[in-house]
Order: sequence, then C-alpha cells, then structure tokens
Amino acid sequence: MNKKVLVIGEMREGELRNLSFECLAAARKIAGEGEVVGALFGENSQQRASQLIQYGADRVLVSEDDNLKKYTTDAYRQAVIQLCNNENPESIILGHTSMGKDLAPQVAAELQSGLISDVVDLEVEGDNVIFTRPIYSGKAFEKKQIEEGPIFATVRPNNIPALEKDEARNGEITSVDLSIKDLRTIIKDTVKKSTGGIDLSEANIIVAGGRGVKSAEGFNTLYELADILGAGVGASRGACDAEYCDYSLQIGQTGKVVTPDLYFAIGLSGAIQHLAGMSNAKVIVAINKDPEAPILEVADYSIVGDLFEVVPLLKEILKKEIY
Ligand code: FAD
Repeated sequence: MNKKVLVIGEMREGELRNLSFECLAAARKIAGEGEVVGALFGENSQQRASQLIQYGADRVLVSEDDNLKKYTTDAYRQAVIQLCNNENPESIILGHTSMGKDLAPQVAAELQSGLISDVVDLEVEGDNVIFTRPIYSGKAFEKKQIEEGPIFATVRPNNIPALEKDEARNGEITSVDLSIKDLRTIIKDTVKKSTGGIDLSEANIIVAGGRGVKSAEGFNTLYELADILGAGVGASRGACDAEYCDYSLQIGQTGKVVTPDLYFAIGLSGAIQHLAGMSNAKVIVAINKDPEAPILEVADYSIVGDLFEVVPLLKEILKKEIY
C-alpha cells in the first residue's frame, strides 16, 4: 500500500510533543512505501521541523503565521483544511489531545470525511487500515475501518511506539503561505495550571492520590514521592472535589486518560470512572487501607495499609535506592 499520510504535529512551549513522533510511527505504517508529510504551525516550528523528518516524515510543511502562534480552533481549522485541499492525503493523523480532540472532528466534518478517535493500535491489511480503539471506558476494544474518503484518526499517547530517531534521515522542509482570516477567537494570555511540571498524558510514572489523602497538605507528600521518582501527580475526582488539588490533575472518564508504565493509586478506591482513565497503565501499585477496595482488583501490586505510614517508608527506601 502506497499512501500519502498527513501528520499534524503539536508543539507545547516551543517543543514538539512526544506524541507527534508516535503519530508519525502510525503514519509510516499506513503509508508503507508512500509519503508521510508532517505539518507544524506556530513559533519555533521552523527549528523543530527537522525532528519530524528524523522520526519518519518525508517532508514537512511549516507555517509561522502570527495567527497560528497559539492554538485556536478557528485558525488551526482553516490551516488544516487548506493543507488537506493542497495535499489530498488519504489519511490525516493527529494526537488524541485537547487540540486533536477539538480539531479533528471539525475538519473531518467540513471535508465530509470519517474520523476514528482515540486509536491505540492499527493494522494494515491490503488497502485497508484497521484501527483499534477502546470502548466502554476501556473495558473492551473495537476494530474499525473507514472505506471511503480521507480518513482522520487521533492517536492516544503512549500506545504506538515512536520509531527510532534517525539523524541521518533527509527530507524537505517547506514554508507554506496559508490564508487565515475572519478569526472569531484571539488568545490574549495563557495561564498554566500546575501538574507537577510533567504532562500527565505523556508521563511514564504517575503518583495519584484520592480522598484518602485527606488534605491539600497530604498531597505535598505525594509531590515529594513524585519528585523522587521523576513522576507526574494525578488525582481522583474525589480528591479534586474535596479541593485537595486542582481539577487539572483529575484522571478518569471526565478527566485525563493516561497510560504510564507505572501508576501509584494512593488512597483512592478505584471507582469505574477513575479506572476508565488509568486501567491501561502497564503496572499499577495500589496503597489502600481497605483490603476490599476495588482498586486492589486491578492492581499488579497492592499494599494494604495506612498511606500516611506506607508513603513515608516508600520515600525513604526509594531515596536510598535511587540516590
Ligand atoms: P473514595 O471513593 O472515597 O475512596 C477513598 C479511598 O481511600 C478508599 O478506598 C479508602 O479505603 C482509602 N483510604 C482512606 N484513608 C486511607 C488511608 N489513611 N490510607 C490508605 N487508604 C485510605 N472519578 C474519578 O476519579 N475520575 C473521573 O473522571 C470521574 N468521573 C466521573 C464521572 C461521573 C459522571 C460520575 C458520576 C463520577 C465520576 N467520578 C470520577 C467519581 C467517582 O465515581 C468516585 O466518586 C471517585 O473516583 C472517588 O474518589 P476517591 O477514590 O478518591 O474517593
């Protein structure tokens, strides 16, 4: 199968997100001997474009148009539609991030194309691409394909491994003129909410706390554990509702979906809505004083005990092991 696949890269604070490299790996698989075209918008995209080549793009289209400096649905929708019309790709891949979830359905609808969202795997069978995506809050997986028209897909972070970086890979980087007009949204300022400095959707290790942590001060001990491990801090909705931490930390059905290598579930019960956001973590460690807590059923390792005794002990041991 020789197809042209367009990957919309995503920048954060002037750096490419890892997920963009994972999207390129998905695109390479779909394209076969065909062409993978990367697209990057906003500040620094010219400097970062070569990274897309190193991770699998054959060429990259770049626009540093002032209207594309920060993501707005309005401006990016126009940009992606123009690129799709100019390039006629068979597939368009984006990350399953706030940006991708917002942008992909709008562009797909405008181009009257199909969209498969939250893709965790894909297979190529002859001319068909079969995408795998979770359903019922991750309790089952469905395989889907779209038979006609350009296919839009959003890829969930940490599921399709990026290709190995190849610094010797060459490709063309082209600046494109896009006509972005009649904008109804202008970003004046962005305020970053703290999640321990690590992007939860791409974190390898997450330390998550629940209502059992009992207070905002209790969360400080989780931040300390996270610091030792180089982890991000997450939370259950119970902890967010109790104002122990910010809602930007919430993991679950109505929070973030994460797939780290290691997930510490501390003082949280493991409600179905929480599991929807983290049950695909590779290794789950639960610390809970209730031996009947549902989280223990999905945990690979369970420590039944008082978190206020277990976590300090864990920190002490890890400090000795790591430093
Ligand atoms: P609890 O269920 O109260 O659990 C606290 C746990 O801490 C208990 O298991 C207890 O044994 C343990 N504990 C207490 N003290 C200690 C101690 N000293 N040491 C060790 N363990 C201790 N929830 C989410 O998390 N994410 C979502 O996205 C989400 N979306 C939702 C969407 C909808 C539509 C609805 C209806 C609910 C949603 N919820 C979500 C809420 C969810 O149903 C639960 O209410 C919530 O996850 C419970 O949070 P928790 O586990 O922290 O609290």
